[in-house]
Amino acid sequence: MVVFSGVSRIDHLECSRCGGTRSATRPTGLCDCGAPLLVRYRIAPGDVPQEALRDRPFNMWRYREVLPAAEPVTLGEGGTPLLWVQRAARELGVERLWVKEEGCNPTGSFKARGLGAAVTMARHFGDRPWPPTEPRQESRRMFSSR
Ligand SMILES: [Zn+2]
Repeated sequence: MVVFSGVSRIDHLECSRCGGTRSATRPTGLCDCGAPLLVRYRIAPGDVPQEALRDRPFNMWRYREVLPAAEPVTLGEGGTPLLWVQRAARELGVERLWVKEEGCNPTGSFKARGLGAAVTMARHFGDRPWPPTEPRQESRRMFSSR
C-alpha cells in the first residue's frame, strides 16, 4: 500500500522548445507550440533525506517528492532491479555496466511508470467517474448504427 504524503516539489511546467511556462496544477498536454513540457522542481540537495527513502515501499511512488501531489493509482510500478551485465561491459570496454530490468513492471514495460502517473493525474483532475462505467458520448455516436 502506498501512503500519500502530498509533498511534491513540482514547481511548474516549461516548454522544451519555446520556454513558455504554465502551472502544473491544471490538466495539460503539449505546449501551444506543439512541443512537450518539462517538469521544473523547487528542490535542493538534502530536501529528501536518504533515511526517508529507506522506509518507503519499493515502487515509483517512493520518490513522491518528484511526482505529482495526488493520491496514486498504482499496480506497484517501479522498484525494478538493476542487473550487472559483465559480458556486455567487457565487449563495450567499460568497467561496469548496469541494465534496468523494466520487464518486472506490472505491464512488462518501462511505460508502466508514465502511465501510472498519467492515470493518477486523470483521476486527480477527473471530470468523469473512475473507472469509466459507460462509453463517452462521442464514442457512442462513432459506433452507433445509422
Ligand atoms: Zn512551446
